[in-house]
Amino acid sequence: MAFLCQRDSYAREFTTTVVSCRPAELQTEASGGKKEVLSGFQVVLEDTLLFPEGGGQPDDRGTINDISVLRVTRRGAQADHFTQTPLSPGSHVQVRVDWERRFDHMQQHSGQHLITAVADLLFGLKTTSCGIGRLRSVIELDSPSVTAEQVAAIEQSVNQKIRDRLPVRVRELSLDDPGVEQVRGRGLPDDHAGPIRVVTIEGVDSNMCCGTHVSNLSDLQGCGAEDHVEAVKKLQNTTKLLQKNNLNLLRDLAVHTAHSLRSSPAWGGVVTLHRKEGDSEFMNIIANEIGSESDTCRRQNTLLKENERLQDQATEPASQSDQHKDVVWRGRRGG
Ligand SMILES: [Zn+2]
Repeated sequence: MAFLCQRDSYAREFTTTVVSCRPAELQTEASGGKKEVLSGFQVVLEDTLLFPEGGGQPDDRGTINDISVLRVTRRGAQADHFTQTPLSPGSHVQVRVDWERRFDHMQQHSGQHLITAVADLLFGLKTTSCGIGRLRSVIELDSPSVTAEQVAAIEQSVNQKIRDRLPVRVRELSLDDPGVEQVRGRGLPDDHAGPIRVVTIEGVDSNMCCGTHVSNLSDLQGCGAEDHVEAVKKLQNTTKLLQKNNLNLLRDLAVHTAHSLRSSPAWGGVVTLHRKEGDSEFMNIIANEIGSESDTCRRQNTLLKENERLQDQATEPASQSDQHKDVVWRGRRGG
């Protein structure tokens, strides 16, 4: 059975009964990105109008008897409401939804269905992923690039359908209903229970979805695509620059690594090195650097040996042929 929030997405408060309440913890991200674990309770109600996160739609906020609900998650056919105050099983409670947050989600979710359908109808662009955010929603289309003209055409068609005030209807079909085959959707979650929910924008699109939706496109007020063609270009350029910088740094690192390996006291001529980012060029640079350093060493060794030989010669007892020089040398010293 669907939750009240799915059967009537415009309901803002209702009365229900607490089924269970058990101790639980909630991991949250405090401001500044620091993780925080809160102690509290998972409360299950007979029914709920607080939407549990799912289908790309964030969960609702609200209250149960004026106690704040900090998170709503779905567990099979039921919803877990996280609170920091316990609630007695069997008691009747008043549930209220944070309407501003919810209505925003409804607008964005229905808007996503509409844009996804229009992008597919006009240009065959399939939606691969989407996400509803606090400030903006993102719809990812399966194409390496979308032109500004395509974006403008999608935007124009979407806004026309909003002005046409097309109704949005939600139906529930049993799993064996032949109608299920005719609706699009990105698959059902593994723990899906009960009938299939189908959201239809009249004359435009039918889609399997668990989210909350507006009942008429006129509630969307309007749709504006950001100038994302430029944004994508900027992103691509930044990525290219980062890749170039990364490559340069990796090259420098390879030279440095080779030198420090070669000058290590433990150097034995064989080395094993693993670096996740190291590509074949990284390895080649190291091999070449070690090689050229070995050449330099060989040259230095040859020079050293040559020097030693000359020094040895100088201190050797004077041979017959050198006697004259020796004498001259002594003579000078003596004089
Ligand atoms: Zn949906």
